[in-house]
Amino acid sequence: MSKARKAFFIFFAAFLQIFFNSSNSGAQSFEASIKIETNAGPLASVSGRNLVANVNAGKRHVSFLRSNIGAENLGDRVSDLILLDRNGKQVAYKKFIAGEFVAEADFTAWSYKIRLEMPKNPKAAAHISWLSTDTGILMLDDLLPQLSENGEMLSAKITLEIPDGWQIAAGEKVTEKHFDVSDTEKKVFVIGKDMRERRIEMGRFNLNLLTIGEWQFSDEEAAKTASEIYEEYLKIYGKTPSQTAQISILKFPDNVSPGTWEAETRGSSVTIISSDMPFKTQSLQRLREQMRHELFHLWLPGGVNLSGNYDWFFEGFALYQSLKTGVQLNQIRFDDFLDTLSRAHNIDSLQTRRLSLIEASVNRWNGADTQVYARGMLVAFLCDIALLNESKGKRSVSDIFRRVFEKHSFPGERQDGNAAVLSIMQADPELLPIIQEYVKGAGKIDWQTQLQTAGIESGPGNKRTSLHIIEKPKKNQKALLDKLGYNSWRKLSR
Ligand SMILES: [Zn+2]
Repeated sequence: MSKARKAFFIFFAAFLQIFFNSSNSGAQSFEASIKIETNAGPLASVSGRNLVANVNAGKRHVSFLRSNIGAENLGDRVSDLILLDRNGKQVAYKKFIAGEFVAEADFTAWSYKIRLEMPKNPKAAAHISWLSTDTGILMLDDLLPQLSENGEMLSAKITLEIPDGWQIAAGEKVTEKHFDVSDTEKKVFVIGKDMRERRIEMGRFNLNLLTIGEWQFSDEEAAKTASEIYEEYLKIYGKTPSQTAQISILKFPDNVSPGTWEAETRGSSVTIISSDMPFKTQSLQRLREQMRHELFHLWLPGGVNLSGNYDWFFEGFALYQSLKTGVQLNQIRFDDFLDTLSRAHNIDSLQTRRLSLIEASVNRWNGADTQVYARGMLVAFLCDIALLNESKGKRSVSDIFRRVFEKHSFPGERQDGNAAVLSIMQADPELLPIIQEYVKGAGKIDWQTQLQTAGIESGPGNKRTSLHIIEKPKKNQKALLDKLGYNSWRKLSR
């Protein structure tokens, strides 16, 4: 052991001893301290201990998240692991592969270093922890060991130590650097030097908006956009999915081409990493698009305790609802709505290997991503028309969202997402053929009948789909078009 390493060990052993002797805080599964170090390269020194006897009892594995969107080999970032038993004695371990260790005896406390350089693929910046010279994203899921078994939620007491002059944004008001985190897998902190925060209060709900860097839109405009869209979704769902939510808008840590963006909603944290657009109108337009999509995810899937690959629903239906909301709020034109559906139809028709939505969701990260979105959105549209038509405008796809959220919001029991969503959808007999053909089946989307019901036609020519409203819609077609937002757009733009 080198001198420096030895000094490091003694320091941590002493530190963990103090940790070990401190009083047990009860409810939390474990506690951890994360110290951000920018001088010694972008890294964090992490130490922690289990507070509940059965966490890790008989479990001698220490493993870290290995990959996420755009990022592989995350285990490589972990070094200097030290494990201690309940008497503060060091426990030997073997390293199997990067980020996977097996202790030779039971351990209760642990410490290690984790490198947090910026991801090579900019796409990953919205999905994993990283640190630049003035900003950082800390996602506990890849920063802490995977202590949860069978996907159960783990709570923790987290202490953050950040460089002088930096701030922490965490959704709730930050007064101290200690946080009681109810679900470590979903917790995201943004830290940095020059963060601008705005608190938007809506009754008992607080939306915390964080912006970093200069944008074509003002912070006021971003706040207005966020609250407008949030309120619109609140009308659909009837209640908020959490007491607070955090929206963070950041630039990419590295240079990327204009227009590029990547976002993730994890629990009640929305992280949007983006490059700006050349002009203000485009910039604001894109911000609205990002928020319409991501804020939807605060409820689905963020607010429900559902598991498995039901991405076709929470991605495809989110895309569709965000389009519809765009028209309702006069952020996009009805023509844009039709245009996006046309493009989705073209994408789905061009697939040489057609997959059912269930299959596409399983293969989302192996090339079926576009199908999940395109086909998922088309199916949402078909369901909307079927429901609106059958109920004479009284029910729509919004009712599905509300029912899924009401039935499966936390702290409800964890259930399989596909089974849960399908059982709710199947209660509406008019949705059965759509589910059979396109969700469970891989049939080509034939929507002529539904389009006609809504007074929409496809053409001219049959090579590429191009939707438009028919010349003289009948009364019931007009009523359906109104429900899709056709008139709200016309009224508002006059
Ligand atoms: Zn999404």
